[in-house]
Amino acid sequence: MLLVDIHAHLDHPAFKENLNEVIIKAKDVGLKAVVLNGVNSASNRRILELVKKDSILKAALGFYPVELTKMTVNYSEEISKEKIDIDQELEFMRKNKEKFVAFGEVGLDYQETEDRKIQKEGFEKIISLAEKLKKPIIVHSRKAEEDAINMLVSSNAKKVVMHCFHGRKSLVKLGLEHGFHFSIPVNIVRSHQFQMITEMANLTQLFTETDAPYLGIERNKQNEPANVVYTIKKISEIKKMEQIEVSNIIYQNWQRVFE
Ligand SMILES: [Zn+2]
Repeated sequence: MLLVDIHAHLDHPAFKENLNEVIIKAKDVGLKAVVLNGVNSASNRRILELVKKDSILKAALGFYPVELTKMTVNYSEEISKEKIDIDQELEFMRKNKEKFVAFGEVGLDYQETEDRKIQKEGFEKIISLAEKLKKPIIVHSRKAEEDAINMLVSSNAKKVVMHCFHGRKSLVKLGLEHGFHFSIPVNIVRSHQFQMITEMANLTQLFTETDAPYLGIERNKQNEPANVVYTIKKISEIKKMEQIEVSNIIYQNWQRVFE
């Protein structure tokens, strides 16, 4: 099978000990691309280094929306000394535009912070740079689904992938009508939300992802890119198609949107 994981965090310390095995396992099951999504300046730089390790690893640069609004302890356990300077980071992205395939992880998050203005300004800037560089944008939208979809619609964004989308049915419909893609995590095996999105969307608008090390099939068990096989299996059940057909169509989506 030809498989893709468009959203993983392999620069997370959870993979410090076993990254090589995780990559080997991913290749064994057929992964052709694993997109590492950056969450802040340090993470973006780690990812540009990490992707040199193996050709299936691809870089996406971004900033987790919450990181724009407060000083945080990010998952590398380094304390961010200052808030991200958005313009400086965008300049870094522009300079390195040949080295990454997408913008991510970017978007809005109203669960952890109420500072919506800063998040929206940052997201707006990212959307317009993504359009300028003609790269896809991988969007996080926790508790902010409506604002995120509306901003993307009104800016006429072309290559959009909604990651782990928890918005209601009417918002999924709106996104699909505008040609947005939805990426389905492995917890589709138990999540009605992602089963619903899969039923609603044409396969040409779906992607597979893990958000590894998060969102595993079993709680508390480290997720990894090889687990996309479970997503393919579940999608094929819902669509009543062979797994190989499903994976081929999603791989074609990858080529059309990311390559
Ligand atoms: Zn993520």
